[in-house]
Amino acid sequence: MKAVQFHKYGDPEVLQLSTKVAKPTPGENQVLIRVMAAGVNPLDTYVRAGDFEEVAFPHTTGFDTAGVVESVGPGVETFAPGDRVYTLKTVTGGCAEFTVADQNYVGHLDKALSFEEGACIGIPYYTAYKALILLARARPGDNVLIHGASGGVGVAATQLAKARGMNVNGTAGTDEGISFAKDNGCMNVFNHRLRGHVNQLVDETDGGGYDVIIEMAAHVNMSNDMELMRRNGRTIIVGSAGEVNVSPSNTMEKESWFRGVSVLSSSPEELVEIRNAIEAGQRSGWVRPRIDSSFPMQKASEAHKLLTSRKGAKGKIIITV
Ligand code: NAP
Repeated sequence: MKAVQFHKYGDPEVLQLSTKVAKPTPGENQVLIRVMAAGVNPLDTYVRAGDFEEVAFPHTTGFDTAGVVESVGPGVETFAPGDRVYTLKTVTGGCAEFTVADQNYVGHLDKALSFEEGACIGIPYYTAYKALILLARARPGDNVLIHGASGGVGVAATQLAKARGMNVNGTAGTDEGISFAKDNGCMNVFNHRLRGHVNQLVDETDGGGYDVIIEMAAHVNMSNDMELMRRNGRTIIVGSAGEVNVSPSNTMEKESWFRGVSVLSSSPEELVEIRNAIEAGQRSGWVRPRIDSSFPMQKASEAHKLLTSRKGAKGKIIITV
């Protein structure tokens, strides 16, 4: 089968289309999926660069996929051949004609969504749900800020918060991204690259601040987030690309707090809860993946380059298989 692989860590150019890769077979509690599309996440670029867990070479890139179940191993009861599914993690690598995934990391893809849309679900929607609902315990009526509402996780978090009756504001880094994030459901969106966006965000809450912040760039915004939170406010750190100088005392008077999220450290029970919520969300319509750009397998390196260089996200980058 064909698969997008790399034989050493490095720049996007290390990604190659291999054409003679052995088709995997599913073991106990595993599902074999004929992949139709794969989502590209920042995590894929960290793995490729050697900045995440060590991998064996050649390594097939990709966690998020969508496709059709080909066969199942012993112990699998939730999925059957012919089911439309998505993944947020695989055993053999997602960007390939076939992949094997542990059943805990597979969910059903509703027929209302295309495979390309399905490839946008895994890591972004699971992260959004875990951050907003399981960790921040956000509730209807809460003021929520999605700090980075134009990218993969931001799109999912905005849709989820809106569906749960929260008041959602966001940020993006370009005018196009701002229009996109508003169209996706944010009440108001400000430019995180312009000075003054913090004051504008506070004004949006009549000065009260935010109950919950979903933070994509804590290395830039952590100090601002302390200003932006209201009493008992919670900031969930989804992304951070470096160190930051902050004054922890700013959390004391408001008794606000920060907490990190790691979607791939979720327990089996958490994964089942999230899967149920995402499957219900597909049926009720709040799960509406947004695709920024699509590449064929042989241009996977361009997909990775775009993800790391783009300054104005408008949803997900995917690879069609
Ligand atoms: P993405 O699709 O590339 O989007 C990146 C987002 O960050 C865009 O909305 C971008 O806005 C925004 N951004 C850039 N500079 C910002 C700033 N100064 N302040 C606020 N937002 C800013 O990536 P993603 O898939 O949404 O992931 C976002 C981050 O979360 C990445 O660092 C990723 O590694 C991490 N992540 C972590 C987990 C976890 O389990 N902890 C799971 C998934 C993702 P513009 O492009 O409009 O400027």
